Amino acid sequence: MKVMSINAGSSTLKFSLFNMDDESVIASGNFERIGMEGSFYTIKYRGEKVEQDVTLENHLDAINILLERLVSLSIISSLDEIKAIGHRIVNGGSLYQESVLITDKVIEDLILLKDYAPLHNPAHVLGIKACKEALPEVPMVAVFDTAFHQTMDPVNYLYPVPYSWYQEYGVRKYGAHGTSHRYIAKTISDILGKKDLKIISCHLGSGASVCAIKDGKCVDTSMGFTPLAGVMMGTRSGDIDPSIIPFVMEKEGKNASEIIDDLNHHSGLLGVSRTSNDMRDIVAGMNEGNENCTLAAKKFDRTVVNYIASYYVLLGGCDVLCFTAGIGENSLETRMRIVELLRPLGFELDIEANNCRGELKKISKGKKKPLIYVVPTNEELMIARDTKRLVR
Ligand code: ADP
Repeated sequence: MKVMSINAGSSTLKFSLFNMDDESVIASGNFERIGMEGSFYTIKYRGEKVEQDVTLENHLDAINILLERLVSLSIISSLDEIKAIGHRIVNGGSLYQESVLITDKVIEDLILLKDYAPLHNPAHVLGIKACKEALPEVPMVAVFDTAFHQTMDPVNYLYPVPYSWYQEYGVRKYGAHGTSHRYIAKTISDILGKKDLKIISCHLGSGASVCAIKDGKCVDTSMGFTPLAGVMMGTRSGDIDPSIIPFVMEKEGKNASEIIDDLNHHSGLLGVSRTSNDMRDIVAGMNEGNENCTLAAKKFDRTVVNYIASYYVLLGGCDVLCFTAGIGENSLETRMRIVELLRPLGFELDIEANNCRGELKKISKGKKKPLIYVVPTNEELMIARDTKRLVR
């Protein structure tokens, strides 16, 4: 059974086509700069890579070209082979606790939920509508980044603000990266052959979040009402005192959305290091003795460790600590520094085993608990799995 997973952004559309009989990737790629000058696409399949400049006025253009290319490149022999499409959705609010088959009602809900993810949900709707127009008979599934976090207790998802903000406007923690954290929890549970596990999952990429998972369910997570909250990230601040916002607005003569833009795009590793939002550059700067890079790396570690320690207490211990995403999977130095800070809780790294990038591996010493793992995340596969399950 062939299933496509789609991640539609405001000017991009990423896809992966899976053969779900063995979960192998048949093809994957990106359409970029949709609706802008200089749009192009990349398709990878059977070790080949096709890259071409094309005019992409909208998401429907991208979908139509993708479908045409899948056949003309002989990746599939006919569009009938695509049995289902799964869409990544950033925010399903409190409405969606799990993945669902897409109906007109789901599309209406996504439009209503746009305030919770203004950059993402409208783009997802464009992607869904384009697929519906191009392949009207093919069932589609929505897979929400927020759904995994819907098992949080109100004590963990409520903010200590006037209760009416929650009741009237839905102000609460929704979290993000749920599909990734769910994939990590499932992979670890499969490896250890156990469901009753206390897992702390660290998704450390450009965006970063930590998630406390008990028996396969999310108990708490570091991202909040939006993905701006929680640990320090590539360009996002993570948690800060909200009083800073009006203070800097006045100092710099900026409005609230300009400050939020600073917190989203000019903060985090980039803000503190004044050099780069990429952990590779930060580590290189640190090795060269650059003070701001050193400070940025240490601050990053500190914010991640604070969440891990707090979730250790929340879960009443930890069986497995996991690292995933760009930094978590690849930055040996970051993993080493973070685990060193966690030594008082009994975490200990096997330095030799930690010498790995992008592979599933246990990196803690012997059988000593808590175990520590690197798990390459695979949100696209999780989307395709849910899609296959729901369509069947
Ligand atoms: P996104 O949230 O965009 O999907 P990724 O999960 O791809 O982000 O993570 C991107 C980040 O991963 C980069 O900004 C970089 O800091 C980090 N990264 C990737 N490779 C390495 C590496 N070899 N060493 C250290 N950091 C890395």
